[in-house]
Amino acid sequence: MIKTIVFPEGGRQRYICAHFGEAYERIRPNASGDRMTKQPLAILLAAPRGFCAGVDRAIQIVETALEKYGAPVYVRHEIVHNKFVVDSLKAKGAIFVEELSEIPNDGRPVVFSAHGVPKSVPEEAGRRDMFYIDATCPLVSKVHREAERHFEKGYRIVLIGHAGHPEVIGTMGQLPEEAVLLVETLEDVGELPAALATEKLAYCTQTTLSVDDTAQIVEALKQRFPAIEGPHREDICYATTNRQAAVKAIAQRSDAMIVIGAPNSSNSNRLVEVATLHGCPKAMLVQRAAEIDWHWLDGVKTLGVTAGASAPERLIEELVTAARVHFDVTIEEQAITEENLVFKLPKSLVA
Ligand code: SF4
Repeated sequence: MIKTIVFPEGGRQRYICAHFGEAYERIRPNASGDRMTKQPLAILLAAPRGFCAGVDRAIQIVETALEKYGAPVYVRHEIVHNKFVVDSLKAKGAIFVEELSEIPNDGRPVVFSAHGVPKSVPEEAGRRDMFYIDATCPLVSKVHREAERHFEKGYRIVLIGHAGHPEVIGTMGQLPEEAVLLVETLEDVGELPAALATEKLAYCTQTTLSVDDTAQIVEALKQRFPAIEGPHREDICYATTNRQAAVKAIAQRSDAMIVIGAPNSSNSNRLVEVATLHGCPKAMLVQRAAEIDWHWLDGVKTLGVTAGASAPERLIEELVTAARVHFDVTIEEQAITEENLVFKLPKSLVA
């Protein structure tokens, strides 16, 4: 697969990415006078990386609401966990709040973030007669419905996820408090009451977990509670799975890995862990290129680069541009699959 990308600095550069085992080819950037003095750095881009269909849809929902209804549009919680995205939307007239109580009764629309919300949130919006638009990713909504279906059939739910993450708060908030037990680690599984073995049990998971860690936790659950039921289809979403697989594919070839993403982005943090667990000597998470201490790359010949599902490609381009200031950069992309999923916008916005 041949791709052409345009970087703000250095003009058009063509590269050929490895796709399902195709040979690599590196095409060096435009020669510049000082390149002889710079150390070479091969940047190995993981693909897929960056925006997923759920994030793309959530951002489009806010932008479309701003176009259709004018500013301001309120957004409950960061629409996606990325400061660059949030700041761009603020500049267009979005106002971010953490709770509906911060929004005056002024008739303006409010958008719920891609992570999903507990049922109490739309209920409160309904009570206050607010005009709300739900940008919950359809793959998170699928987990909500699944948990509800199991609950209606009399099951207790074991949710595998990170305490305090908005998605976990949203999923737990679909059901009465006592209906859901949260486990974060293998140790938590060991601490579940033995009496649960006499109950009907089902598990579901946060969509952005480590695929490998979650498989171990599920295995431990099945060992303790052999009758426990799982989801019909995997809850960890395609984007999380693909981004982790793409990092695994380049980890051993990389002397270091940079993951672009926010500190509160679950899937971005998992990419850092996956990189080091799969053979990359060191990995770090940065929000923007400006945060990088370039001495961290001393002795690094091949730098793996990826981005969490809420980080735009523009931040990768920014990193490459910044790296060119310090290194004689070559770029190669290694793609493990292509993603074509697109989620429709809510009917209320497109009508
Ligand atoms: S990471 Fe997965 S679940 Fe989360 S918004 Fe993207 S596609 Fe949806």
